[in-house]
Amino acid sequence: MFDFDTNVHATRRQLLAGSAAVAAAMALPRDVFAASFHRFEHGAFDVTVVSDGFIILPPEVLLPDAGPEERADFLKRLGAGEKGAAVQANIPLIRHGEDLILIDNGSGTNFQPTAGKLVGNLGTLGISPEQITKVVFTHVHPDHSGATTTIDGKLLYPNARYYVGQAEWDFWTDKEFEARRPAGLHGFAKGAQRDLFAVDDRIIRVREGDEIVPGMSVVETPGHTPGHISLELEGRDNLLITGDACTSDTIFFARPDWHFGFDTDTEAALASRQKLLDRAASEKLKLLGYHWTYPGVGYAERRGDAYKFVSA
Ligand SMILES: [Zn+2]
Repeated sequence: MFDFDTNVHATRRQLLAGSAAVAAAMALPRDVFAASFHRFEHGAFDVTVVSDGFIILPPEVLLPDAGPEERADFLKRLGAGEKGAAVQANIPLIRHGEDLILIDNGSGTNFQPTAGKLVGNLGTLGISPEQITKVVFTHVHPDHSGATTTIDGKLLYPNARYYVGQAEWDFWTDKEFEARRPAGLHGFAKGAQRDLFAVDDRIIRVREGDEIVPGMSVVETPGHTPGHISLELEGRDNLLITGDACTSDTIFFARPDWHFGFDTDTEAALASRQKLLDRAASEKLKLLGYHWTYPGVGYAERRGDAYKFVSA
């Protein structure tokens, strides 16, 4: 499951000699991307999946609806240990014209220590934080927006514009949040407010159909959080970057009827996930999932009431 680390180290060695020159290149030549990072062209977009590391999720979060035998079976397939299963954090780095766009910025120093590797891996690719022009939040959970500020409160990506769903902004920045919402969400709200308010002079709130750049548009997929968004990129078959609308390729393609423990509105999340998978199978959309097995790029093929994940 963690072969990707090996790839990164190999890449680091390969790039060591040329990295200074590459980092200095203003025009970002296409070959700054190392071959061992998963990279593909999609229409007008050049997409590289960069790992932020991984996080551990406990069984009761991953599989709240599973019976004991099913739970054991899925945990085995996930390679889970006693504390739970390690799930990847796949961050798309997208080049479009002069823009260098991140979809989410990972955990930074604000979540589990096995994550927060994005900025180092970008460095391996010869990309410095100053070169990122846009950061789009699918949602503002700590493993997605936690790298907005450094440990001393500075912006990690100082030249980026930020994008977040209007409903996501409204939910987490509610002044009455603690009075209105359950205690289990209060810690999440503190982190979300830290990340959103740090960029409040440079954040753009978006809705269904809004474009981040031409050909990259917002698809609202509420439920995991109230303002969760996915991103649809035009190409031969469109690419849908799903964020946490479907948190596991291993579990939810096989069981699209099951809930996920960290969804804020579990029924809305279930409906969004089912709609997304149904549409992906019908329209043969290419998918890119945040917590899916690296690089998390593939298709949903219908199998009766369920789906098979077919790696691209
Ligand atoms: Zn997540």
